[in-house]
Amino acid sequence: MAPPSTAEDSRSRDLDKLLLRAGNLVGPTFEPGPGLRDDLKEYARVLVVGAGGLGCELLKDLALSGFRELEVIDMDRIEVSNLNRQFLFRLEDVGKPKAEVAAKRVMERVSGVNIVPHFCRIEDKELEFYSDFSIIVLGLDSIEARSYINSVACSFLEYNSDDSPQEETIKPMVDGGTEGFQGHARVIMPGVTPCFECTIWLFPPQVKFPLCTLAETPRTAAHCIEYAHLIKWDELHSGKAFDPDDPEHMKWVYDEATKRAELFGIPGVTYSLTQGVVKNIIPAIASTNAIISAACALETLKIASGCSKTLSNYLTYNGAAGLHTKVTEFVRDKDCIECGPGVLVQLDTSITLQKVRVT
Ligand SMILES: [Zn+2]
Repeated sequence: MAPPSTAEDSRSRDLDKLLLRAGNLVGPTFEPGPGLRDDLKEYARVLVVGAGGLGCELLKDLALSGFRELEVIDMDRIEVSNLNRQFLFRLEDVGKPKAEVAAKRVMERVSGVNIVPHFCRIEDKELEFYSDFSIIVLGLDSIEARSYINSVACSFLEYNSDDSPQEETIKPMVDGGTEGFQGHARVIMPGVTPCFECTIWLFPPQVKFPLCTLAETPRTAAHCIEYAHLIKWDELHSGKAFDPDDPEHMKWVYDEATKRAELFGIPGVTYSLTQGVVKNIIPAIASTNAIISAACALETLKIASGCSKTLSNYLTYNGAAGLHTKVTEFVRDKDCIECGPGVLVQLDTSITLQKVRVT
């Protein structure tokens, strides 16, 4: 008779199907066996950057995927508006650091996992801190923060004399991002796949409406709101700055936007849309975060174990109208200042800057 199964056994049952069997899709160095499960526990150290909507999901997913040594970094404190989707937080946690509460909650629920929280800015950590991890997983909502982590990870990369990357200096990253019903998951192997900077053009510039449209030919509810916010406010409040956190100011903009929308017969102006447009808030959807985080956790598992080839290299998900998902293989920018090999220039130490610029 088989021995009674433990909670640990049942938790790894599905994982074992990936780690104990060979297959056509496995990575080139994959050797199935129970030792892999132990390696994952002992040697794979994963840093999760961000403990918000994606970060909460990522920590839970990674803990349940067999990772035991996790760390999380986030500078934010929990707000009431986070509670609908950042499911590790409760009302009594409002005001506490996200990283600390998220780590505590996952450790309470998943036995054997160790999560070290870091309540600070990502820039506050030394480079050595980041170099310690096997994989860095990003659950961020800003381009600047992604650029920063990308440059840190790329700074570890070294090239051989034939411009091939030195394998042991490659710091893998898995990046997730969501915006409403849309999201992406990508695998970044600096020196092998495009880094964040190689494809920075993927991010569209911030949407700004031309003032003449707002003033003369509004067509959408957002146009009416921006008219009240950017033009009407200044006309009627000479010198008084608009404060987006003052509910009276927001209500005033909403009322003015409503009047303008009625004048032009435009539907759709609501108080929450007014807040969204004025504060540039992108609605966060719990299910999108869950789907994107799951994809990221799976890619992390693939990198750590080799149990399957990784995503190559950029997955987009769109659940706004029906459901569409696609993987696109982007190519590296060979001249990328972050991940490119650069050009070796050897100069005599006595040379002056002016002569360098001429040559
Ligand atoms: Zn690059």
